[in-house]
Order: sequence, then structure tokens, then C-alpha cells
Amino acid sequence: MLEKLSSSLKKTTDKIANAIFLDKNLVDSIVKELQRALIEADVNVSLVLEITKEIKQAALDERIKGIEKKEHIIKLLHDKLIQILGKNREIKLEKQNTFLFVGLYGQGKTTTISKIASHYAKRGSKVCALGLDVHRPAAPDQLKQLCDKLNIQCFIDKNEKDPKKIYSKFKDQLKDYNLILIDSAGRDALSPELIQEIKDISKLTKPSETFLVMAADIGQSAKKQAQAFKDSCNITGVIITRMDSTAKAGGALTACAEVKAPVIFLGVGEKPSDLETFDPESFLSRLLGMGDLKALMEKIHSVINKDQIEKTQRALESGKFTLRDLQTQLDSMESFSFDKIMDLVPGLGKVKDKIPQNQLETQQEKTKKWKHAINSMTKEEIENPEILEKQTSRMQRIARGSGTTVSEIRTLLKQYKMLKDMISSQSQISEKGLDQKTMMKFAKKYARKIKF
Ligand code: GDP
Repeated sequence: MLEKLSSSLKKTTDKIANAIFLDKNLVDSIVKELQRALIEADVNVSLVLEITKEIKQAALDERIKGIEKKEHIIKLLHDKLIQILGKNREIKLEKQNTFLFVGLYGQGKTTTISKIASHYAKRGSKVCALGLDVHRPAAPDQLKQLCDKLNIQCFIDKNEKDPKKIYSKFKDQLKDYNLILIDSAGRDALSPELIQEIKDISKLTKPSETFLVMAADIGQSAKKQAQAFKDSCNITGVIITRMDSTAKAGGALTACAEVKAPVIFLGVGEKPSDLETFDPESFLSRLLGMGDLKALMEKIHSVINKDQIEKTQRALESGKFTLRDLQTQLDSMESFSFDKIMDLVPGLGKVKDKIPQNQLETQQEKTKKWKHAINSMTKEEIENPEILEKQTSRMQRIARGSGTTVSEIRTLLKQYKMLKDMISSQSQISEKGLDQKTMMKFAKKYARKIKF
């Protein structure tokens, strides 16, 4: 189902997550791929342009940087896709429920009724079907055959052409069931007669839900159909069938969201079990190949951290971890904080759990000042921070230039030395990382040392 769109979306999110710089060329190519994939899935062109325009704007927005930008874009993409998939609507069964199914010929109405019957029967409901399609001669038999296979009671009367009489005939028996599924007549198009017939059946049977059944292969024409049925027949939800057999499924799905006709179920095959409850959030998660948005974000973090760690490791291997390296790391995070720096060191993330949140926030303010201070240093000072410790005059100059104090610069130098120390201890530990015991020892040692 929508395999092509799914693989394109996965590629897009991978590209964003793996990019070191989201420069204009990369953003352009990501946006183009996204447009192509969505349009191929039959999503309305103006919707596609609206989404991609916002993504492009966010990607090229200079005010958002580094990891924050990636998070921002992925979240934007996720939210936009959720928005075009529509709102989630869950069906809750009461003691007595009647579902009326309406739709045009050949859209999968009869097959869907048997699927829904099976779905609820498996969940313990006492389900029956009632055939009120008096127009298509083969309809009652088809419904009965499908129901018989599933051991679902099906009430039909092939000789009666008046739905009201059929309903009256079975009315008493229907009371024994807590879910009644009613098949109504279809037509080639939504004609005034069909509207009247649906209204009459609705008045008679007082359904708790009226579902419009539409096939996904009608693509964006689903919009017109859903709107017309919504306006004239009071539908409460849509069931989209044949999701498995068309590349146009994006069109039908998004069209329903556009006219605010919530999609409730999807038909994904011909078998009775080929029915899925539609939930935009989990549907999108599957398309993106991720558990949820959180998993997506974690993916970005893991990529970033790996890059940063490798950079740091390289700096250490060459015998140096300068203030410049610290600055690079601070720069790559919009709201940099000490806990994020700690995340850069494998195995040290847990140390931060020992630090109260308000202290972390104070630290965040401090690190902002550090950034200004580093920016006021000369190249020589950044490369060899040791020279600063020996010359207070240098510290005074930097403090003046960055709106900080000498004491804040001293703290910065202390933290830098400690971080350098931590990273070099870490780099001596085997490639496999830390075992639990060593890590706890390590965490204790540094948690004590960290003073804010
Ligand atoms: P009706 O005229 O609206 O009652 O439509 P039917 O229930 O007879 O279905 C029309 C055709 O669509 C039949 O051949 C069904 O087997 C097929 N069909 C219905 N739902 C699905 C589905 O979810 N996937 C696929 N692949 N075929 C379906």
C-alpha cells in the first residue's frame, strides 16, 4: 500500500537526518523528490506545493540552526502530512448499533460489510447483516454468500422490492443483535433518487453510523463524491477500499480530509480480514517506517551525536581538544546546554540524570555566555586556552568584549578542561563502550566534580 510514497518519504527523512549541512542545493533536491512522490501518490498539487513551500522556508531559515533545524523540518513534514491525512475518529460501540453503508456501484460496499461483520464478530459483538439493496438483483445473494462463509446471520428477501417492507419483516429479529449492518442500494452516480432512497432508509432504520464506501482508485474524484454524500446523506465516516491495488490512494485519502469526511476503515485486499482501522498517526508512522515522531527525532539525534563524537574523537587522537571543538559543538545546537554536551560523550548521558532540571537551565544561560566569550578570543587563545590562565589581562579583554566577567571565563576554562578530561578518559575505554559497573563509577566521579 503506497509503497512508492513510503520509500520516497523514508529516503527524504534519511537525507535530512544524515545531512551535515542543509544547504540550498540539498534542500532543493529534497523538496523536489518530496513533490514528485506526493504527486505520484495523487495528492492534490496545490496541497503538495503548500507543504513543500513551508518545508523549504524552514530549511533555509537562517535563524534555525543545526540539529534544531533538522528536528524542525522533520516535525513540520510529519505535521503537514498528518494534517492532509485528516483527523482520527474512533468508532465506539454502544449496546445497540446500526451501521448503514452507502456508495456507488462497484466501490466495494458488499465486500466491506462482510469485512466489518467479521471485524466486530471477532471482537465479541453479535453481528447481523440486512440486505436493503433492492436495485441490483444479485446484491442480496452476494451479501448472503459472503456472510454465510463467516457464519454471520444475514437477512434478505429477494422477492421484495420495497426496503421498508423488508425492514418491517425482520425488525423483531434484528433486536437480538447488537450490531446491524445494512446494505443499501447503489447507483452509477449520486442521483436524486439515490439520495431520496438513502434518506428514506435512514429515517426508517435510524443508523448510529452512516458510512460511505469508496474505492481508492477513484483518486482525487473522491473529494467530489465524499462532499456530495456528506451534504445530502449525512455520512458520519468514509471507508476507502482497494487501498492495496492503486498508486492513487493518496488522492482518495487526502480528498476526504479536505472535505472533512473522516476515514474510518481501509480495505486492503479481498479477504474478510483485509480491513484496517484508519488512524492518521499510525498510518503515517508506517509510511515513514518509524514507530512515531519520537523515534524519528531519536534517529536524527543518533546521527548527529555520531558525527559529533567522531569529530571529537579525531580531535583527541590528534592530541587536541580545543575550545574551537567545544565551540563547534555548541554552535551545532541552537539551545545548547551542558546536558547536550554530555550526550555527546558515549555512556555519559546518564550522569545528567543526577543534575536537577533548574540547575541545567541555569547552565544553559551560562553556556550562551561561553559562546560569546569564545567568539571574543583570538585564534591563538582558542587553540591554546592554557595561555589564558597565565594572563589575567587576556581574560579581562575577553570579558569586556563579550559582556561577561573574568569569573565566568574562569568557569568556562574549568568546564572545558573537565570536558577534555572526561572525553580523554572515555576514549581510553574499549570500543565496545562502558560496562554498567565502570559507567556508574565514572558517572559518580564526574557528577561530584560538576559544579554550577
Ligand atoms: P459493491 O458493488 O460496492 O457492493 O462492490 P463489491 O463489494 O462487489 O466489490 C467490487 C469489487 O472490488 C469486487 O471484485 C471486490 O472483490 C473488490 N474489492 C472490494 N474491496 C477490495 C479491497 O479492499 N481490495 C481489493 N483488491 N479488492 C476489493
